Amino acid sequence: MKTTLKNKRFKNKAMKSLFILPAILLLSFSYGSCQQHTEASGEKNPYYSRTDTKPLHVSNAEWKKILPPELYATARESVTQRAFTGKYWNTNPKGTYYCAVCGNLLFRSDAKFASTCGWPSFFESARKNSVIYKADNSYNMERTEVICARCGSHLGHIFDDGPPPTHKRFCMNSISLDFVPDGMAVNK
Ligand code: FE
Repeated sequence: MKTTLKNKRFKNKAMKSLFILPAILLLSFSYGSCQQHTEASGEKNPYYSRTDTKPLHVSNAEWKKILPPELYATARESVTQRAFTGKYWNTNPKGTYYCAVCGNLLFRSDAKFASTCGWPSFFESARKNSVIYKADNSYNMERTEVICARCGSHLGHIFDDGPPPTHKRFCMNSISLDFVPDGMAVNK
């Protein structure tokens, strides 16, 4: 009798495990998928796309809800990152740089050069219409501001002291750039 009861308990335990284990696996899988889905679809930033080139008309109030505060400050309020800080001022792996706000194609690593200025520097943009230029007379300086042509976010400034063939220096804020190494999917 005792043995039968034990067997019954064991069977019940085994049956429970049979249900619980797949349930745990299913839950973990769903959680992982959700995370991937959130990142890949840009759920937090519905305007981000590396393939859609249509210009965006989004208010700063809306961007403020979407962007991390540091990115908002640079991209929407033109706050320059400190020199020799940021992710990309001293790196040059092969790949492509996109606008961190909207995903617009901006620069190829082939056009990046080692500059002593402390900000990531490029001698040309990936496409002629990737960026637009605007006179900037702030801080008693005459500079030309570089703006993302898709979302209108501040990226940095352009100067005439770059290397050949263009002799231009696109002096960018790292935080405004999203780097995708060659060979990685860009379909988002
Ligand atoms: Fe942009």
